Amino acid sequence: MFLKIYGARGSIPVSGTAYTKYGGNTTCLYIENSAGNSIIVDAGSGIRDLGPFLIKNEKFDLTLIFTHYHWDHIQGFPFFGPAYFKNTVMTIYGPTRESNARKTLSYQMTKPYFPTISLNDMPARFVFKELKSNQKINRLTVRAIFNNHPNETRGLKFIENGKAIVSLSDNELAAPKKQTNYIKFVQFVKNADVMIHDAAYTDDTYKTHVGWGHSTFAQVVQLARDGGVQRVIFTHHDHTSSDQFIDNQVKRIADSNPDIRVEAAFEGMEISI
Ligand SMILES: [Zn+2]
Ligand SMILES: [Zn+2]
Repeated sequence: MFLKIYGARGSIPVSGTAYTKYGGNTTCLYIENSAGNSIIVDAGSGIRDLGPFLIKNEKFDLTLIFTHYHWDHIQGFPFFGPAYFKNTVMTIYGPTRESNARKTLSYQMTKPYFPTISLNDMPARFVFKELKSNQKINRLTVRAIFNNHPNETRGLKFIENGKAIVSLSDNELAAPKKQTNYIKFVQFVKNADVMIHDAAYTDDTYKTHVGWGHSTFAQVVQLARDGGVQRVIFTHHDHTSSDQFIDNQVKRIADSNPDIRVEAAFEGMEISI
């Protein structure tokens, strides 16, 4: 499996000299299985930069999975180049309890939010499917867990040839009202080769954001430890977190957890397992 990060920012895109190392685009991950099939997770503003790569490499058979429909996970979709090619076939998975992907993407492209073109006008062919707890997608086993986050949100585990990548964003491990208990997350991440997890807060800043749906750096590394995960990648960086701030957090956590590889997601980060 191959994974590349196209957006690692939470809530709203940011720009400026304080954000050049980790990037300012909101959530988008790109995964390829060993046969080169493409799976995209979320359509934050980062998906705009993924478009030219897919077009250049003539990858028009695409799978897009939405973890949930908050703005920072859908706002890049109208600017995703392959959606404007008529030979693109996009199979789109997402939660269905409160809304569904077709309804959400249509709505964000209605007037007065978006000019000229609607979802129906886009030349690509879209096939909408429900995201289930355990299914095969493009020869990968894809497991989905309910995250602790306002509105239905799914965490994902991708498994191929005995290797696993977990992506848990957005997720509040210590949420006062839980969809999923901590022990279930421990089981979900168990022995994953890589765990990418929302880490928006420090222990201090979390105190004023309890119930907002995000975790702290320390909670995430503890989950890795409890689940036997050796490599942790913090993501969904708070929109106020500068490069310097994120560097400091990674160093602080890495220093106190020398047996676990600790990193922060940045645009362009590539992982092969
Ligand atoms: Zn988010
Ligand atoms: Zn969210």
